[in-house]
Amino acid sequence: MPRIHNSITDLIGNTPLLELHNYRRKRDLGGRIIAKLEYFNPAGSVKDRIAWAIVKDAEDAGKLRPGDLIVDVTSGNTGIGLAAVAASRGYRAKFYLSDNISPDKVKILRLYCAEIVTVENQFFLDPQALEKITQRVKDENPGAFFTDQLANPANPRVHFETTGPEIWRDTDGAVDILVGGVGTGGTLSGGGRFLKSKKPGLKVVIAEPAEGSLPTEENPYPDEIDGVHKVTEVPAEQLPGNFDTTIADEVIALNTADARRAALDLVADEGIFAGTSSGAALWAATQLAGRPENAGKVIVAVLPDIGERYLASFK
Ligand code: PMP
Repeated sequence: MPRIHNSITDLIGNTPLLELHNYRRKRDLGGRIIAKLEYFNPAGSVKDRIAWAIVKDAEDAGKLRPGDLIVDVTSGNTGIGLAAVAASRGYRAKFYLSDNISPDKVKILRLYCAEIVTVENQFFLDPQALEKITQRVKDENPGAFFTDQLANPANPRVHFETTGPEIWRDTDGAVDILVGGVGTGGTLSGGGRFLKSKKPGLKVVIAEPAEGSLPTEENPYPDEIDGVHKVTEVPAEQLPGNFDTTIADEVIALNTADARRAALDLVADEGIFAGTSSGAALWAATQLAGRPENAGKVIVAVLPDIGERYLASFK
């Protein structure tokens, strides 16, 4: 078999697991933390998985023709994944982004030839924001293919079919806890559902932003954890359709400074520079690994992307 691949879409998934031995030893943690390094995907994040799954579904259903426009609302990574897949498959891409996302991601999107529409971050405080932005995207782009990452079933499905099984296979079934953040909810809902189907006692833990790291009317531009949202005390209609509200066994809240510090600890101890939501997952995993009842447990933390995507916010 030649080892030459033919498309970036062939390079998505099968990302490595890395046990954080130095990090664990330094903190004397009982639990074992294993990082799933999603920045190994070809366009640099976990979102490459859903980008290709959604486009492939649309191609199979005859909804996409060469030259067509792909549109979505994204905090950056889905846009980058979709723009990469669009380049590889011959489509155009356009994204609606809130105006507080990492400037590094905006630059990357532009370099990938995507058209960008920015939306004021305050807009997303409206309880009807998701409905309204969806309508706006459809109205402004007649004939375009709206990928709808928040509700498209291909999103949790690809995590059920790939992310979850990879973790199961690569830990040889030893995984006890899956921890990560929720943006669309696809990763933890799909991956978590698969892993729970294999091991009913497995726990899914969500790392969510604490109050001080969330926008409010008074402070619409706090220092946020890019890509992840609060899930507790949020009315069901404001949660993404792809988030399975029954999946979590526990939710751990943290602020952005904690997430960033954990990300920097990971660089110092293991030589891995992951993004802010990765730091959040690691911070939550660290709390879990420190509990006596989790001594010897295998805690898999999903690290969605690379820290270089947030250079402007790491001081
Ligand atoms: N972290 C980052 C940096 C992301 O871009 C996303 C996706 N928005 C997530 C975490 C959460 O992933 P999911 O959408 O699968 O819940």
